[in-house]
Amino acid sequence: MEDPIRVGLAAGWKHVDASALAHSQTIDVDVVIVGTGAGGGVTADLLSATGLRVVLVEEGPLRSSSDFKMLESDAYPELYQESAARKTADKAINILQGRCVGGSTTVNWTSSFRTPPEVFAFWQRHFGLQELSAESMSSWFAVMEHKLWVRPWDTPPNANNKILAAGAEKLGIAVGSIKRNVKGCWNLGYCGMGCPTNAKQSMLLTAIPAALSRGATLYTRLRAERLRFAGSQVSALDCSALQADGIHLSGRQVRFRARHFVVAGGAIGSPALLMRSSVPDPYRLLGKRTFLHPVVISSALMDDRVDAYAGAPQSIYSDHFLHQAPIDGALGFKLETPPLHPVLYATTLQGYGEAHARLMRDFTKVNVVLALLRDGFNPASRGGRVRLGAGRLPVLDYPLGEVIWEAARRALLAMAEIQFAAGARWVTPVHETAPGYTSWAAARKGIAELPLKPFLCRVVSAHVMGGCGMADAPHRGVVDHRGRHFWLDNLSVLDGSVFPTSLGVNPQLSIYGLVARNASLLAAELSGRPLPVIP
Ligand SMILES: Cc1cc2nc3c(=O)[nH]c(=O)nc-3n(C[C@H](O)[C@H](O)[C@H](O)COP(=O)(O)OP(=O)(O)OC[C@H]3O[C@@H](n4cnc5c(N)ncnc54)[C@H](O)[C@@H]3O)c2cc1C
Repeated sequence: MEDPIRVGLAAGWKHVDASALAHSQTIDVDVVIVGTGAGGGVTADLLSATGLRVVLVEEGPLRSSSDFKMLESDAYPELYQESAARKTADKAINILQGRCVGGSTTVNWTSSFRTPPEVFAFWQRHFGLQELSAESMSSWFAVMEHKLWVRPWDTPPNANNKILAAGAEKLGIAVGSIKRNVKGCWNLGYCGMGCPTNAKQSMLLTAIPAALSRGATLYTRLRAERLRFAGSQVSALDCSALQADGIHLSGRQVRFRARHFVVAGGAIGSPALLMRSSVPDPYRLLGKRTFLHPVVISSALMDDRVDAYAGAPQSIYSDHFLHQAPIDGALGFKLETPPLHPVLYATTLQGYGEAHARLMRDFTKVNVVLALLRDGFNPASRGGRVRLGAGRLPVLDYPLGEVIWEAARRALLAMAEIQFAAGARWVTPVHETAPGYTSWAAARKGIAELPLKPFLCRVVSAHVMGGCGMADAPHRGVVDHRGRHFWLDNLSVLDGSVFPTSLGVNPQLSIYGLVARNASLLAAELSGRPLPVIP
């Protein structure tokens, strides 16, 4: 199968692997973009389309379909932040984020939802974001859905998803089918290890090739360390090259001088870069209100094989429990089913030794449902905080308070009931002391009494949002509705870090749509041309 990235490189795309640089450099460009994920990719595409000279800076490697072997042992160290073992500072929450060209879009599971109207309405009421609504954003979502092949997934769901659908339907709980951004998907189920068949329409396969074909330059294994500024103008971005191991510094530096600087390092990387740069933050908002959609998990043993590693990972969802209370009331949650692969499952599952091995022996018959808790709307759900730790690298504090645990308990109950309704033989919350239950009656009693605390109850996240929140004024946000920094004129933040709350839906399409709008506005301003028609 042809690897379009290798073809492009052979045809002369400009890619600099900074780990191989022999000397430090200073480069002049129009725009430098930090990060190549959902935000950085769309930005590079749209700015390069207006003829601007663009450079992309990515600390991860450039890997493509020829490298994607459907192996967890290769994928996690190569493509993920901290080898897929990134955690909050207290180690209570495991965080999955991409660290490669394409960012998290290279490894994500392709679920595609627009930002819900009630989320825009909340942002209008609480953050003064009057310009953003479901109506005003509709054409931006539509254009990105078209561009990235976001379509209904017509293939029958895999067994893991069918169990969620069957159990929910028995209980009268509405479910829906998830749209996916794939073109010619083989239904393999290994999206999280990089798509081996080039079906996933990630930034790696779409926006970045488009930008490179127009002459943009991609630097990899290069970490953006610090923006230099005087007054309200950023003058340069200083970067450190990494060695080929992707961990240690090589000692080479690259300085970019540019007209405009775009930060799109994701919701942990972006606030960290702005903190290392000591950008003005008089209201101390930077790095605050980081949201995760904290996820709790319920595992069920079925009579027949489920083989939850095979087939499109998330194709069925239920929003039933998002709409039980007002958006700022008790936390609602969205139900989905993740892909199960042995390393990810083994490292998430409770227990150790013989007990753990026993659970793993049944791996092929396991169904897993997860609940994404909608954080950031209830006044007691203030999210986490990014700060700088050793080596000035980011760490995230995310206190798991009562408001989260209350929702977690409801979610664990709801998932167990659905799994029993679908015919589960045995259900356990992913929780250190949960004994596992053989009936819904036993689960209802047991889960109601389960101590819910950090480390006992597993909490994970693949949706990091916030930290550079948007608002109408500098005392309420870090950037405005266009992603423009309130204090530095030629600095934009264009990624998932700008959301002032979580979303209650998987974030990628929200980022694509918002960044398409904001990068188009920026492209028009910098190029002096009308808004570009999205190519
Ligand atoms: C396993 C997994 C599954 C997911 N599944 C879905 C899904 O099905 N649907 C959905 O909507 N969302 C999903 N997501 C989430 C979605 O992919 C992300 O929300 C989205 O990609 C975030 O975009 P971003 O631009 O903010 O950051 P990212 O896409 O994470 O990109 C940030 C990039 O910046 C780079 N970077 C950071 N700091 C620096 C620095 N200082 N210097 C240089 N480079 C830097 C990083 O290496 C990274 O490549 C999933 C995520 C994961 C990890």
